[in-house]
Amino acid sequence: MPFSNFGLGKEILRAIGKAGYTRPTQVQTAAIPKVMQGHDLIAIAQTGTGKTAAFVLPMLQRISKANQDGEPRGTKALILAPTRELALQIMENIRAYGDGLPIRVAAVFGGVEEEAQIKAVRKGVDMIVATPGRLIDLIGRQKIDFSLLETLVLDEADRMLHMGFLPDIENIVSGLPKRRQTLMFSATLSKAIESLARRFLYQPKMVQIGKRSNPADTVAQCVYEVPGHLKNVMLLELLRQADFKRVLVFVRLKDGANLLTNFLKLAGVKVTRLHSSRSQEQRLKALQDFKDGNVQVMVATDIVARGIDIDSVSQVVNFDFPVNPEDYVHRIGRTGRAGASGLAVSFAASSDQRLVTDIEKLIKTKIEIEPMEFEEDQPRKDQGRINDGRRM
Ligand code: AMP
Repeated sequence: MPFSNFGLGKEILRAIGKAGYTRPTQVQTAAIPKVMQGHDLIAIAQTGTGKTAAFVLPMLQRISKANQDGEPRGTKALILAPTRELALQIMENIRAYGDGLPIRVAAVFGGVEEEAQIKAVRKGVDMIVATPGRLIDLIGRQKIDFSLLETLVLDEADRMLHMGFLPDIENIVSGLPKRRQTLMFSATLSKAIESLARRFLYQPKMVQIGKRSNPADTVAQCVYEVPGHLKNVMLLELLRQADFKRVLVFVRLKDGANLLTNFLKLAGVKVTRLHSSRSQEQRLKALQDFKDGNVQVMVATDIVARGIDIDSVSQVVNFDFPVNPEDYVHRIGRTGRAGASGLAVSFAASSDQRLVTDIEKLIKTKIEIEPMEFEEDQPRKDQGRINDGRRM
């Protein structure tokens, strides 16, 4: 079904064309008609599936029509997202898809000047994208009027629950009009998500796209068994390969991210880092540098990198092996997006074998573990050749 069948206005169709989208993705095809009809919705879809447009396009359509019809202006839509990066990304998408529409949107998230956000909200906005913590602050100070709210979106709801945002979400929802449309997006359908849906959604329709346990087929995967003290050298070897152009490196801890970044810098690699102790400005700059190709490598911890949409990450390196299989799927989902081919390389200690087996079960793919063979002070030139993961 082409975009023109959804009943979206001319401006929105033009903006979609400008974004270069020719056909709706699966989640868009399934969700947009239901959202346009006003149903509540649970959509099980990972980032990278086009889920943002699935909720943003119908909202833009409804709000722009209401504005055209001279209905009272006010904040009609609230989108809650787990991290500032994701909130900002959603806002950028709204701006892109709403290009040419007189729709005002504001973002409300921690780590940047509160006054500027309050000012933006005070001027009157049609849509707010927020992380739960900062929004609670502003609501507490009675800065936001939600009396005209029509649509609530809980994006990456599973992530918000993991991050402990449930009390904040409950608090926020308790202040919203009871009659509203609620859309919930989650990568997984867990008991906690079902219970959230039962409490906040009314007779929801359900859309499930693929399975979280299926990383894109376009991602080749390999695991190297690397002793801890050789991981730095091994990474450097990989980074010297010509096709390692935009590499996202996952580490477990912030300190580890700092140490690794310093090591790479000393070795002459252009690198930036993304973790939760960095200021909002530093995080945005790191992302921008990585997106613009000013750096070859971004070293990141899981939480901040979740959900971030970066085009053409050429490789993901799990420098520290993920502690649970689902993180593995999330991490390697940063590459091989929208049909492009990608590569995920993981360093594992021999004690990680059990985790590798768990991942194989989850993704139903055999992952070969390659032993490390090079001498510590004489890295082999062909080290780092990759074998694709084979389907079992
Ligand atoms: P999301 O899952 O919303 O983070 O979207 C993932 C990526 O897919 C983003 O870079 C979008 O710009 C892109 N995208 C969304 N919808 C489409 C579409 N219909 N065709 C091509 N790309 C799309």
